[in-house]
Amino acid sequence: MNIMSQFISQIYVRINGRGKIVAFIDRDGTIVKEVNYLSKKEQIQILPKVVEGIQLLNKHGAIIIVITNQPVVARGFAEVGDVKDINNLLVELLREKGAIVNAVYFCPHHPYADILKYKMSCLCRKPEIAMFERSADDFHIDLKNAYIIGDTTRDFLAGEKLKIPSICVQTGYRGKDNTYPVAPVHKAKTFLDAVNIIISKL
Ligand SMILES: [Mg+2]
Ligand SMILES: [Zn+2]
Repeated sequence: MNIMSQFISQIYVRINGRGKIVAFIDRDGTIVKEVNYLSKKEQIQILPKVVEGIQLLNKHGAIIIVITNQPVVARGFAEVGDVKDINNLLVELLREKGAIVNAVYFCPHHPYADILKYKMSCLCRKPEIAMFERSADDFHIDLKNAYIIGDTTRDFLAGEKLKIPSICVQTGYRGKDNTYPVAPVHKAKTFLDAVNIIISKL
């Protein structure tokens, strides 16, 4: 495998995605509170209406895939194993509340990292799309049925590249990170409102 594509996938519930709705969901600022480099389990705070939103997606048979940049690894604040543990716990906390996530994919890289092993302009760090494409393969997803829910222009630009509508939640950076000159296709106050936009298109 090319080092450029060495992102990490954690698959929890494997299903065949053919014909199903797909929600690609950002993690920090969208599912959990943005704390600026989440490196410890104790920092996990699930945002309001996220459980309800994921439950509603589950009810409609959607596939839930979390796609997240975790430069916390490249910066040296956490190991890959720590991020895996944090994701496992987050998925378990959601599952206990009846909200099922199918998989988490994360990129550990950063172009200006402190840890040389992870210092690169990779093909996975959003707005690049390698993690979306891999998950589409892993779950036999048709990207025509997909949506992206996120809080930054990285999420919206990934959506443009993939021709997938993006929905900006008013949590985390609220779409105001100013990293890329790109706007979301939809705006939603809460995560549940974002899910309702998806459901309304069915
Ligand atoms: Mg985010
Ligand atoms: Zn990467």
